[in-house]
Amino acid sequence: MKLDDVADDLEEILLTEDAIHERIAELSREIEKDYAGERLLLVGVLKGAVMVMADLARELKLPINMDWMAVSSYGSGTQSSGVVRILKDLDSDLTGRRVLIVEDIIDSGLTLSWLLANLQSRGAASVDILALLRKPDAAKVDVPVRYVGFDIPNKFVVGYGLDYAERYRNLRGVGVLAPHVYA
Ligand code: 5GP
Ligand code: MG
Ligand code: MG
Repeated sequence: MKLDDVADDLEEILLTEDAIHERIAELSREIEKDYAGERLLLVGVLKGAVMVMADLARELKLPINMDWMAVSSYGSGTQSSGVVRILKDLDSDLTGRRVLIVEDIIDSGLTLSWLLANLQSRGAASVDILALLRKPDAAKVDVPVRYVGFDIPNKFVVGYGLDYAERYRNLRGVGVLAPHVYA
């Protein structure tokens, strides 16, 4: 679905499909240099990272494996609690692997900070992070994000994997949700 198809639900268009694909291609060239000659394990965080994972994996000219984790970080509210529960664990053994966590967005950073420590404790040779989007609050926590797609304002965004109440994940771009949608 295109951003135009839900124009009334969006306050602003942040990233077009083309802008996202261009940036993913740039990041892929960096990753190819950084992991030349190695086999990388991409770990996608469900469900938000599905789109970025699919596009990144197809853009990369590297032998890769893909695995998935599902975690829940939010309690009942809209704030990250830092309490993370594994809903679906990896199938892969991380011993000696070069791991790249693929995330949709880093906001408070609590989810990624927990995930990084968790994966590092499993004997990986390296664990790094790619986040397509980064909000300003992420600067307050000490999570080293090696690859960042876009720095965006502190607004609630949807599309390209990101949802509001499980909707809008199938938008090809990213937009700021209009306030009337929450009401
Ligand atoms: P953090 O732990 O960094 O605060 O948040 C991580 C998770 O919160 C993200 O993976 C994402 O699922 C959700 N999240 C944070 N900001 C947004 C946003 O603007 N829009 C949507 N749809 N989800 C968000
Ligand atoms: Mg996520
Ligand atoms: Mg969500």
